Amino acid sequence: MAKENHITTKGFILRIVNYRENNLILDILTADYGLITCSYSGRKSKNNSLRRSISPFIFAEFKLFYYRNRYSLNSLDIIESFSPLMEDLERLTCLSHLSELVMDILRHQPKASNVYPFWAYSSYCIVYQKDPILTTHLSQLKFISDQGFSPWIEDCLICHKPIKTNIVNFYLNRGGVICDAPACRKHTAESSIVLLHRTNIDLISYLLKLPYEKCFNLDVEHHLRAELLAFSKRYVNTVMEKEYKKLDILSTMEKFEKGIYE
Ligand SMILES: [Zn+2]
Repeated sequence: MAKENHITTKGFILRIVNYRENNLILDILTADYGLITCSYSGRKSKNNSLRRSISPFIFAEFKLFYYRNRYSLNSLDIIESFSPLMEDLERLTCLSHLSELVMDILRHQPKASNVYPFWAYSSYCIVYQKDPILTTHLSQLKFISDQGFSPWIEDCLICHKPIKTNIVNFYLNRGGVICDAPACRKHTAESSIVLLHRTNIDLISYLLKLPYEKCFNLDVEHHLRAELLAFSKRYVNTVMEKEYKKLDILSTMEKFEKGIYE
C-alpha cells in the first residue's frame, strides 16, 4: 500500500532552485527528518502569500505532504525571517557559502549528526553578529571538525612531540601541525605548509572544544584574523577536495573598501 502522510516539522531553507514557470525545489534542513528536498508548485497553488514567504535561510514550521518518497510544500509559518539578510549582500553570501558546504557534507554523510543545532546557532550569528566573515570561517572549521575532519593540532603529527615555537607549520596535505625536526620535515612539500601563529592554533583548539552556543562570536586581533581566514579557506578546500568560491567576492569587496587594489 502506498504510504502518504501529512507532516509538520521545523526547519531552515538552505537552498531554493527555480524550475519551469513558477515552481521551486527547496532544500530544507529539518529538525526531524534531516535534509529533505521538497517541491513547491506555483501553478497548482492559488496561495500567493505562500510563494512570497519562501525565501532563503528562513526558519519556519513547514506543513508538507509526503508521498512515494517525495515531499511537497503545503504551507509554512515563519518563525524567524532574518529580515536584515535581504538587505545585506555580505551576510547572504556567507550563508550561501556555508549552506553549500553543509549540503556537500550531507551528500557524502546523510546521517551526519548535530547538523541542525550547528546550523541554528551558526546562521543566527552570521545574520546578527558584527563580523559575519569571521563567524563564517569559525563556523566552517567547527563544522568540518565535528564531521570527522578535525585538524591535528595538539602535537607534531609525525613524531608526536609538543611544538613550542611561536610560529607553527601546518601541513595541509596531512591535516596537522609538524615540528621543525629534519626527520619530520623531509617528506613535506613546502607549497602545502601554512604558517600559523601559536595564538591562532590555541584559538582553533579552543573553538573545537566549545559548544555551539558559545563558539561563533570569538574575537580575533586584526593581523591574526587575516591569517586565520586564509588558513580556514585552504584547510576546507583541501579537506573537501573542492574550491569554494562564493566568499572570494567578499574579500575583493573588503579590499576595495580599504583602498587596496590589486
Ligand atoms: Zn615532529
